[in-house]
Amino acid sequence: MDCRYDHILIRYGELSLKGKNRGNFIKTLYEDVRNALAAFPALSFRKEHDRMYIYLNGEEADAVCAVVSRVFGISSLSLAIKVRPDMEEIRQAVLASIDAEHPGTFKIAARRSDKLFPVISDQINRICAGEILRNTDWKVDVKHPDVKIIVEVHRDAAYIMTKRIPGAGGLPVGASGRAMVLLSGGIDSPVASWMVMKRGIRIEAVHFAAPPYTSQAARDKVMKLASLLAPWQGEILLHVVPFTELQLAIYQHCDESYAITIMRRMMVRIAAGLAQKRHCQAIATGESVGQVASQTLESLVCINEVTTTPVLRPCACMDKLEIIRIAEQIGTYDTSILPFEDCCTIFTPKAPVTKPRLDKCERFESRWDWQSQVTACIEQAEKVRIRPGYTPDAVPAAPAACILEAAASEAQLAEANRRACEPQQTEAEITEADLF
Ligand code: ATP
Ligand code: MG
Repeated sequence: MDCRYDHILIRYGELSLKGKNRGNFIKTLYEDVRNALAAFPALSFRKEHDRMYIYLNGEEADAVCAVVSRVFGISSLSLAIKVRPDMEEIRQAVLASIDAEHPGTFKIAARRSDKLFPVISDQINRICAGEILRNTDWKVDVKHPDVKIIVEVHRDAAYIMTKRIPGAGGLPVGASGRAMVLLSGGIDSPVASWMVMKRGIRIEAVHFAAPPYTSQAARDKVMKLASLLAPWQGEILLHVVPFTELQLAIYQHCDESYAITIMRRMMVRIAAGLAQKRHCQAIATGESVGQVASQTLESLVCINEVTTTPVLRPCACMDKLEIIRIAEQIGTYDTSILPFEDCCTIFTPKAPVTKPRLDKCERFESRWDWQSQVTACIEQAEKVRIRPGYTPDAVPAAPAACILEAAASEAQLAEANRRACEPQQTEAEITEADLF
């Protein structure tokens, strides 16, 4: 344990811009930080209008920092030593803050917010540097120091800090409301979930499973993804919707080229229903404009038409490579690329329409009573609480073939079985010819 530091200083991010809402944001951040650190019982906390302090009381500094650096709403954090605003105490603390056994180069950067403190910043720099030079083999380098030692002198205390760790940025989760995210097993929707959380929105997730066409392994993969997202907000409630019957009905009643569009419309209806039930003000998806046929603007018009609930699409204007970069940074990429089937990939039509028409969507949907199926999906959704660190029993490394038992036509079953056993396919990429 690094016993030189006794607390962590947290600097707020965009919070400083939030005028009269500031009090609420700080309160939310304070609760988020405390909840994230529930596993460290000895810690104590204090919040002020522009900073927050975590007193370590013997807890391991690095472990606490690792957790705090995933709390949104924080611009940076520093391990710090707190002393009285007294030159002698400051001098000793500065000396204690560096590792005398492993010398390098340093610079002192002192600042007085209390202008009544009798020693000016430049003198504080000299006194502290002299203390280190006299007692250790460290050398001064003001341009490129190995360690920058920050000394802040306030009216009631002085802080000595050596490391500034970047925070997660954004707004504290919960400060901006709640959203229901459509979480598939792909790359985009976990990134979208993370981006939504970063704007201060607490998420719940909905996953559409189509057993037996989709396997237990595919479901476990989604749970694993939710568990990788959970450290950013604490527990995530995942709603697993039994989607098979509705999906088979779509294929039975609609032109194959419209199947994906209609399926998305059903997904959004169900997600909006769950959102209403769970008091979420918005739904969110990983859709990206132009990525596949069902993500053209014409498709999005048809999909959006089924709800008045706002649909957030944080990846809408991002390139796939930009999305992948974030997926790698937040640690979801390796799980996302595991080759398990999704309900969309199994039932992918060969030629999905890129410019669907609303009147056609409505005509296909008038052919059966999908409303009661949508209601059943909302009512029968299974709720799973996903905590950080959750590991499903097994996420095998190879795609699992489906066991086929459900009532469907022979041809549908044969086709679904064939696709389930193939490596994961994605909806056809759009070519220029499709668009123009
Ligand atoms: P991702 O977009 O997450 O990489 P994907 O590419 O397999 O996965 P798309 O076909 O691009 O998914 O679907 C667009 C969006 O629709 C997803 O980002 C996700 O929000 C939602 N979605 C698709 N399939 C499912 C599913 N089985 N359960 C929940 N949401 C889904
Ligand atoms: Mg996608």
